[in-house]
Amino acid sequence: AMSLQGHQFQCLSDNYGFLIHDPESGDTASVDTPEAAAINNALEEKRWKLTHIFNTHHHFDHAGGNEELKAKWGCQIIGFDGDFERIPGIDQRVRENDLVEFGGTTARVIEVAGHTSGHVAYHFESDQMVFVGDTIFALGCGRLFEGTPGQMWGSLEKLMSLNDDTVVYCAHEYTQANAAFALSVEPENQDLVKRCDEIDRLRSQNLATVPTSIGLERKTNPFVRPSSVNLQSTIGLVGGSPVEVFAETRRLKDNF
Ligand code: ZN
Ligand code: FE
Repeated sequence: AMSLQGHQFQCLSDNYGFLIHDPESGDTASVDTPEAAAINNALEEKRWKLTHIFNTHHHFDHAGGNEELKAKWGCQIIGFDGDFERIPGIDQRVRENDLVEFGGTTARVIEVAGHTSGHVAYHFESDQMVFVGDTIFALGCGRLFEGTPGQMWGSLEKLMSLNDDTVVYCAHEYTQANAAFALSVEPENQDLVKRCDEIDRLRSQNLATVPTSIGLERKTNPFVRPSSVNLQSTIGLVGGSPVEVFAETRRLKDNF
């Protein structure tokens, strides 16, 4: 049953902060810690007390506030076992398919290496929410800083196996730039064309384009659409394997 309340707010220049709150137990989690001050302000505004931090990966704009928040709140920090030495303050070390108890529900850990070698996502299945850090973005995917295209493609496939209604909380507002690239590689995708208009409308009012959903990404995000004939022909890889098409799409975006 759905039980969690969420709160999304801006951090740093283009990160999003996310709080999730279980009203019954009072438990409150911050997914990543881009900016301790912004997170403390959000907690104060909601009158919630921080009990957990779920870290997706070690980058500073995701774990930089861990120590300050833990010192203030004494909260429990959950992070990937393999990144124990890179993510400050981990109390609970997790791996693929581990279930983390939070309030009256559980989050399942999905290992999604690629952006970094130790990236994880947290799937709150009963609330149809997934927190993906810098793995998938609205119309985009994370840069491959530490992983290979094969690893990242495997990670995206895992996320795309979630049901279409799953709400996807990605950590940055990169959507408008991603949209321009997506249109350049899949110009005949009418769902994409429509979505880009909507994105322009939202951004012209300074509104968030996050969260997104698995179903919407499935229809419009070129990084999870390697079987699109339009994409394959635009990038010159008709009949290419999913990993080949993904790798070339990612390479083109790096140079876009
Ligand atoms: Zn990152
Ligand atoms: Fe980031």
